[in-house]
Amino acid sequence: MNKDRKLIIAGNWKMNKTVAEALDLVNGLKRELLSVKEVDLVVCPPFTALSEVSKAILDSNLRLGAQDMSEHPPGAYTGEIAAVMLKEFSVRYVIVGHSERRQYHAETDAVIAAKAAAAHGAALKPIVCIGETLKERETGRTELVLETQVKGSLAGLSKSQMEETVLAYEPVWAIGTGRTATADQAQAAHAFIRRVLAGVFDDTVARRVRIQYGGSVKPANARELMSLPDVDGALVGGASLEIRSFTDIVKNSI
Ligand code: PEP
Repeated sequence: MNKDRKLIIAGNWKMNKTVAEALDLVNGLKRELLSVKEVDLVVCPPFTALSEVSKAILDSNLRLGAQDMSEHPPGAYTGEIAAVMLKEFSVRYVIVGHSERRQYHAETDAVIAAKAAAAHGAALKPIVCIGETLKERETGRTELVLETQVKGSLAGLSKSQMEETVLAYEPVWAIGTGRTATADQAQAAHAFIRRVLAGVFDDTVARRVRIQYGGSVKPANARELMSLPDVDGALVGGASLEIRSFTDIVKNSI
């Protein structure tokens, strides 16, 4: 695949996997994906498995991601996890603003921007998720929503921080539904997001930022999606929970 930007494929395990199950999965991925150099590979286990998974992937091409973090430094925030705590486990990436956090935990663009800034403050790369709901798409508001989310969720980042940020375009109606955006829909959204980035930052930043697609990515649709000019990887939910399906997504993307 001939793109300037290196593909990045991340598995978001969500609230799944005990430590033992996490180790089975990651050891299998390590074995199957050993020779992959063309793609940045990231696994995002639940917090409870970060420590063990971190040790298991030390000598591999897999990198560690977390699924969320607090925007605050350590302190009186019961139940929260600070960026410096993630660093202890050699976490490199952190998903922020996933639609499930926006929907079930009322996370706003302002909170997400604060998390992205706090991630950079600790030298973690945020994977910032954006995407429209079905209603927003059906009422012709997709571009307005994406523009608002890009501007709001990335507010305050410097150009160099933006270049080290990964965006994930995840149409909410495609997450966990088996319904994937068509190639045309995905390419149009990614190209639009890149145009917004050029306006907010500049053309160089827009050209360099990697934008993942997420929403029912499977081995069968990975090749077509990953070959789109403005799609630079995938954020995979359900299909990242099995060794075979995640491996096949990666191999079909190369
Ligand atoms: C996700 O939750 O980020 C996701 C894309 O899920 P799925 O692949 O299951 O649609």
